[in-house]
Amino acid sequence: MDLTATMIKPLNVLSSRCIDPTRSAVFLDFDGTLVEIAEHPGLVKLSPDTRDALTKISSALGGALAVITGREIGDVDSFLKPLHLPVAGVHGLKRRSADGVVRGALVDDRLVSELSDRLQNSITDKEGLLFEQKTGSIALHYRGRPDLETECVEAMDEAIRDMEGIHLIRGKMVIEAKVCASDKGGAVKDFLIEPPFAGRTPLFAGDDVTDEDAFAVVNDRRGVSIKVGPGPTRAHYRADGIPQFLDWLQDAANHLDGIKSVEHS
Ligand SMILES: [Mg+2]
Repeated sequence: MDLTATMIKPLNVLSSRCIDPTRSAVFLDFDGTLVEIAEHPGLVKLSPDTRDALTKISSALGGALAVITGREIGDVDSFLKPLHLPVAGVHGLKRRSADGVVRGALVDDRLVSELSDRLQNSITDKEGLLFEQKTGSIALHYRGRPDLETECVEAMDEAIRDMEGIHLIRGKMVIEAKVCASDKGGAVKDFLIEPPFAGRTPLFAGDDVTDEDAFAVVNDRRGVSIKVGPGPTRAHYRADGIPQFLDWLQDAANHLDGIKSVEHS
């Protein structure tokens, strides 16, 4: 992946008014984009202001706002509630459309169980590591033990060595083995052929390597791609960090909400 060729612009040159109520579809990563990453995935906090901004944007766009995450769908719901959004979970392996129907790739659970057994036997007894089994995937979080990164990667490599149909994803302080090759780019494409997303131009924001597939899809469609934080990327805009991105999102939400109030008055 060549991530050096694109000229990336700072987010402050992108007007938050670029989100159009009838022409835009907004896709957002969750961890590291809408919330600060925490020691444990269960400890992240979505601020009421961010939830309020998401509510306004979703409403102004006729529901064309989705979260694209590595988490399970229900997990994201629990942070967003009472807001209930279309979500692609486990990097696109499961997807809940705007009509509420959950679609998912057929997952070979035997592969995941086998992988789980192998990892239990090698690495998961180490203190400070978090082992998370999801639908069609197993994630090994080492945020609590960054010193064990090499061991974790080696254990994962070893565990999947003779298994077919599994691929590894490296994220921030996490390595994940996932059944079949769905990715966040595929999830964005799938949403874009369904109402209320179809016919709209996508905007996507994310912070991690797994978001690059979605940036590629969005760039292809002349949409807006925003990388949150440092690191090589094919996104066209960069926010310095989560706070700057959330301020920008807040501005966009307030502007969209303003347009709606005028239309309805
Ligand atoms: Mg992220």
